[in-house]
Amino acid sequence: MLLEIRDIHVHYGNIAALKGVTVEVGEGEIVTLIGANGAGKTTTLKTISGLRPLTSGSIWFEGRDISRMPGHKRLMAGIGQAPEGRGIFPGMSVLENLYMGAYARKGSVDKDLQEVFELFPRLAERRNQPGGTMSGGEQQMLAIGRALMARPRVLLLDEPSMGLAPMLIQQIFTIIEEINRRGTTVLVVEQNAQQALQLAHRAYVLETGRVVKSAPARELLDDPEVRAAYLGTG
Ligand code: ATP
Repeated sequence: MLLEIRDIHVHYGNIAALKGVTVEVGEGEIVTLIGANGAGKTTTLKTISGLRPLTSGSIWFEGRDISRMPGHKRLMAGIGQAPEGRGIFPGMSVLENLYMGAYARKGSVDKDLQEVFELFPRLAERRNQPGGTMSGGEQQMLAIGRALMARPRVLLLDEPSMGLAPMLIQQIFTIIEEINRRGTTVLVVEQNAQQALQLAHRAYVLETGRVVKSAPARELLDDPEVRAAYLGTG
């Protein structure tokens, strides 16, 4: 496995947000975590990227225990994240935002910039516009583009479809598929379970800090409980 989350428990003060979550992500896969509000999806991603400490359990990346590795080292090791709420630098131009994504990397970034512009032609057109004046969907593209500039081995995406118009949602999922096809492993958290299950190879369902189901994504699309709870088509 490229990334293994083993039985992790995570607390906010006295509140247990994760109560023993185990998730595996293989090289080349798209894996999705679905679940209701507050199930612990964002917390899982933040713990993988090192923004939240573990109470117990462990996280393994490329066979190494990274549970206590600081976040910036995890980024340098190949764990990239486009956070929920985008988190781009509003006063910097699109181009500057993209260069920031590559700050921890060695070597030329021209080829990566070219690839990001191929995936997101809109970012190329708007390269000199301040990030903060881009539309919601464009900022989402910028956040993903910036994460790609670090050339991650695994890309963590938190709610990439949040706040997007239906047409853009389809577009962003198509782009995630293309990013994966070009060789990046993806772990994506989504409220939009239908689209996420169509996109992913495998999926985990989280409920109040626990994994209650894991299966090939296609199987969950046909699972009566999942359909009733998350797809509104019971
Ligand atoms: P959503 O889909 O609504 O973003 P989620 O599945 O991503 O939900 P988390 O954000 O991981 O859920 O939250 C898991 C639990 O941890 C929730 O009960 C939430 O209230 C709690 N929690 C999250 N962040 C904090 C915080 N900073 N302080 C206290 N509790 C928190």
